[in-house]
Amino acid sequence: MKTTLILIALGVTLFVTGCNAAPTNSPAATNNSTNSTMKFPLQRTEAEWRKILTPEQYHVLREAGTERAFTGKYWDAKTPGEYHCAACGALLFKSDDKFDSGCGWPSFSEIAAQGKVIERQDTSYGMVRTEVLCANCGSHLGHVFDDGPGPKGLRYCINSASIDFADTNAPTWKVPEKK
Ligand SMILES: [Zn+2]
Repeated sequence: MKTTLILIALGVTLFVTGCNAAPTNSPAATNNSTNSTMKFPLQRTEAEWRKILTPEQYHVLREAGTERAFTGKYWDAKTPGEYHCAACGALLFKSDDKFDSGCGWPSFSEIAAQGKVIERQDTSYGMVRTEVLCANCGSHLGHVFDDGPGPKGLRYCINSASIDFADTNAPTWKVPEKK
């Protein structure tokens, strides 16, 4: 019985470390992902967020969930444009900085401008990672790793569910509004 438990624990550990590249967090990790200790310009109650967001968006953005690799709508997207926060519409990333990391999530080497995201240490799953949050509304976006290709060597590994794409070349382009 004890051996079984240890094996299960080992399996879980291996599984979790195997997903090192994931912008992951878990529903169980919501305790360190709430905004109780941080104040963001845009404040909404969880009930309001539930109304505005789809269930998947709510899970990722507000409960620090993670979509499955290679299932999001933007991991392979190459159209020029901008990526905005799916919760509040704030500009976060640009397609110029998007690169194919092979990890199955949209990856960026840079943020659209300084101060657009906030970083926070995430120790869920026994790993020390850097969580990335929208600086405007505090929603969970993903994680940043230091194995990126750009001069800064950063890889922002972001959930597709956390961002909305805006084609800046489209004649009717408008910043997505979320009120
Ligand atoms: Zn936001």
